[in-house]
Amino acid sequence: SLEQGTEGPETPIQVVLRVRPMSAAELRRGEQSVLHCSGTRTLQVSPPGGGPDVAFRFGAVLDGARTQEDVFRACGVRRLGELALRGFSCTVFTFGQTGSGKTFTLTGPPPQGEGVPVPPSLVGIMQRTFAWLLERVQHLATPVTLRASYLEIYNEQVHDLLSLGSPGPLPVRWNKARGFYVERLRVVEFGTLEALMELLQKGLSRRRSSSHSLNQASSRSHALLTLYISHPTPQQIPPADPGDLPVGGKLCFVDLAGSEKVAATGSRGQLMLEANSINRSLLALGHCISVLLDPQRKQSHIPFRDSKLTKLLADSLGGHGITLMVACVSPSAQCLPETLSTLRYASRAQ
Ligand code: ADP
Ligand code: MG
Repeated sequence: SLEQGTEGPETPIQVVLRVRPMSAAELRRGEQSVLHCSGTRTLQVSPPGGGPDVAFRFGAVLDGARTQEDVFRACGVRRLGELALRGFSCTVFTFGQTGSGKTFTLTGPPPQGEGVPVPPSLVGIMQRTFAWLLERVQHLATPVTLRASYLEIYNEQVHDLLSLGSPGPLPVRWNKARGFYVERLRVVEFGTLEALMELLQKGLSRRRSSSHSLNQASSRSHALLTLYISHPTPQQIPPADPGDLPVGGKLCFVDLAGSEKVAATGSRGQLMLEANSINRSLLALGHCISVLLDPQRKQSHIPFRDSKLTKLLADSLGGHGITLMVACVSPSAQCLPETLSTLRYASRAQ
């Protein structure tokens, strides 16, 4: 597990692979599982035609039997939290095709109805990290201020999921002190787990989704929930804009849009535009990662400016941060082409 920190030299990106269980629908259709774990770090892919197995290695591999708590532990999110408390920018993002378990991994299953709470055993990495962080800050010698923002990137436009006014698109700016930030983004101070959960629920209910031939409720946007950790000075005036936040640590959770190819969805018109923007961000992310991993990168320019997503993840990916990718896949043979493309993208990132 990444929790032990025995990984040797620090790589900018750590990759955990999660295979979700077969869904009821996949089982009903009699689909075969083509993935199995061998040990804790290797995934074996058995092509249905009977070709040779292909193996992929990751920081950790978790199969469909692993619980949300197992995933939280294996991801070493507490270590990222400690780094964020020390001023680093840390990011956890989920990557994979629609229906592979990205949202489940980060936030858990959708609520079964109004006011019906999700069982604690099923809540995701985000809520587990919130609970850990709020407990942790109570034992710090110096108090910290915690704030949160929640936004989505949809068609390469940034929308504030917590805004009180019109949710129109907000510009992404850059300044020397802060790097990239979203202008006029609402940043809300919180002190309790309940307050933070309310912000999360409010933002989730405002995420855009559209029906789609691949998945009725497929989410076509990238959602970024960021926790800002700062050490306040007595005279401090609450900042109006994240561009003015005192320098501190950041912990960002990103639920990426589905990584599936546009061709498979039969998208047209507006949906086509969405898919292109989604792919632009994911391609830009893959491109930035490969430049970062290039041993000659001292000379290379990292193309963070190519998409909104990469601008907003620049500080975690580059210089002062740590990024954890949780790649999510379905075990079903029917998903194998997309699964292989997720596995290749994820292997290249480490
Ligand atoms: P994505 O966000 O990648 O589109 P979801 O997280 O919405 O995928 O998952 C698709 C469906 O599978 C949802 O109904 C979700 O609750 C279920 N699911 C995903 N991962 C798991 C898991 N590990 N255990 C049980 N159900 C899961
Ligand atoms: Mg989702």
